[in-house]
Amino acid sequence: MTGPSQPNPLQSGSSANGNGKAARAAMAVENIVKKYGTFEAVKGVSFSVAEGEIFGLLGPNGAGKSTLIRMMTTLIPATSGRALVAGFDVSKDPDAVRNVIGVIPQALTSDPDLTVFENLSIYAKLYSVPRGQREKNIAEVLEAVDLTKWRDAQTKTLSGGMRRRLEIARGLVHNPHIFFLDEPTTGLDPVSRMAVWEMLDNLRKTRNLTMLITTHYMEEADKLCDRIAIVDHGTLVAMGTPIELKRGVPGSNVVEVHFDRDTEEWQGRLEKLVGVTSVKAESAGFYRVLTSSGSQTTMALVELAAGLGETLTSLSVQNTTLDDVFVHYTGRQLRDEQVKSVFMMPPRPGAQP
Ligand code: ADP
Ligand code: MG
Repeated sequence: MTGPSQPNPLQSGSSANGNGKAARAAMAVENIVKKYGTFEAVKGVSFSVAEGEIFGLLGPNGAGKSTLIRMMTTLIPATSGRALVAGFDVSKDPDAVRNVIGVIPQALTSDPDLTVFENLSIYAKLYSVPRGQREKNIAEVLEAVDLTKWRDAQTKTLSGGMRRRLEIARGLVHNPHIFFLDEPTTGLDPVSRMAVWEMLDNLRKTRNLTMLITTHYMEEADKLCDRIAIVDHGTLVAMGTPIELKRGVPGSNVVEVHFDRDTEEWQGRLEKLVGVTSVKAESAGFYRVLTSSGSQTTMALVELAAGLGETLTSLSVQNTTLDDVFVHYTGRQLRDEQVKSVFMMPPRPGAQP
């Protein structure tokens, strides 16, 4: 599938962060491997994340995303290769790494029987935040995740989205520079999910964070991340900005056009337009056109029709999605995998809206 004319997706990532300025790596893995017995869950992955970046690991269930995060956050040892966080080798200097990172694991781990404040307070103590500073830090993170007025609520009364926000606050209570989030929005409804994205984007700016996020939601990776690595079966199959990744997929912009008057000539005319890789007649006067440049093809098409005095009754251009990118590199659809793995958080008794 990967032709000689295509750029190598693994080399396409820029080392600039979202603001376009070059920065040193906040974290990196070098040929990192994890074996569980004879099963290789992570098969020699390398990437680095610049300071201030939001970097996404996108892949289906079982791809190895959580295993990668666990190795990078000192929770499990790598079988070979190495991980560096804030310049520290994770295997040689785990305590130094733990001091500068915040980690939000995939499962919810705040105690449902404690209040929001109590959950945060335990973490502040665990991370040795000085006594005199705890109240201030807690107040700040509560404000940052918009939970100030729920400070004394029992955690089990919170909705799923609020509980996620509490977990995010907890991961920030010791003011880390580097933030790891494993599937921060899995199980949330679309509205809560978007609220979490917005919050993370704000936190990145206001608290100067570098983030590594895993997700199997393409929209999440697309909206939130500066760069994305697509992971499948323990290997990294492509890496780059969302735009770079989408550009790397040939002929997958789709232009759909409906002509008022159908003639046999449309097929041949459309095939000759700039960028077009294939044309399919769907029904009378209705064509589906694959192109490497939706905008150029659309402009040429409109000009052609105007020149011929023909009328278009409808015209639509669909952009390449990260789903197309995933299909391109793996031959499978991420959406299909996603459906299998979707679960919703069960409502909690007496949950707040
Ligand atoms: P993801 O987070 O992308 O869904 P994981 O990193 O959790 O994937 O898992 C990657 C693969 O490693 C899966 O096939 C999973 O079953 C396997 N795996 C994860 N943890 C263990 C473990 N402790 N022992 C054996 N296999 C594991
Ligand atoms: Mg996981």
